[in-house]
Amino acid sequence: MDNIYLGCHLSIAKGYYKAVQEAISIGANTFQFFSRNPRGGSVKAIDQNDIDKLKQAMEEYGFGPLLVHAPYTMNLCSDKESVREFARNVLKEDVERMKYLPDARFLFHPGSHVGQGAEKGVSLITDALNEVITDDNGPMILLEGMSGKGSEIGGRLEEIAQIIQGVKHNKNLGICIDTCHLHSAGYDVVNDFEGVLDEIDRVIGPGRIGGVHINDNMNGLGCHKDRHAKIGEGTIGLEAIAAIVSNERLTGLPFNLETPNELEGYAKEIKMIRDKIGC
Ligand code: FE
Ligand code: FE
Ligand code: ZN
Repeated sequence: MDNIYLGCHLSIAKGYYKAVQEAISIGANTFQFFSRNPRGGSVKAIDQNDIDKLKQAMEEYGFGPLLVHAPYTMNLCSDKESVREFARNVLKEDVERMKYLPDARFLFHPGSHVGQGAEKGVSLITDALNEVITDDNGPMILLEGMSGKGSEIGGRLEEIAQIIQGVKHNKNLGICIDTCHLHSAGYDVVNDFEGVLDEIDRVIGPGRIGGVHINDNMNGLGCHKDRHAKIGEGTIGLEAIAAIVSNERLTGLPFNLETPNELEGYAKEIKMIRDKIGC
């Protein structure tokens, strides 16, 4: 079996090198982190020495691509221009900063249309991406599939497909799937994961998945709620998660946990999944 890149969301408050060391200590070979303060939005200065040490450790331990998660406050399709402007600036700056990082993919929640309607939301997000992505040489940018709660865009694959199709330079644009979100949105990742992958290929197009979040679901299929459970403590279960992680159609992708855990809990989950798969 090929190398499986398995990790979790970690803090980079103490630097990238500290984060990669933490990842190594829990048996991870990828990780995810916030591009900046997830609720505020302040950004740290680039520390090239820290990044060089990160790169070195990633090479030494055979890490797969990292995932860089945008802050939650970034809403490209808000009904307020000031919020949209903030979001576009964050997107621009954070995508620009990607060039300093090793192999990494940027991902964001498409946004909430806050009552303007999905069509308006999709068009605002598409416009913002067209403004920021001006050629095909940038980093991979992923829209996260959502549970579809409230006025969230991205609970339906069609919405993500429309955005990608509307962006002129969409070569490096794709989707980050989240097992909890897909399940909550009504896609049966437990009993028919192959069918879900077929649906993604049909609606969004093949080769567009750039990362995976592995979370169990506190609620049921199609609930449109977003409550992550620890692996094996929700309605998806360890069996299905292990099958997803080892699915050969997802080979080479980074799989990251976003379960309600501290480091020790993540270590247990990673071991549990690796034991189940036998890798
Ligand atoms: Fe997310
Ligand atoms: Fe997620
Ligand atoms: Zn979630």
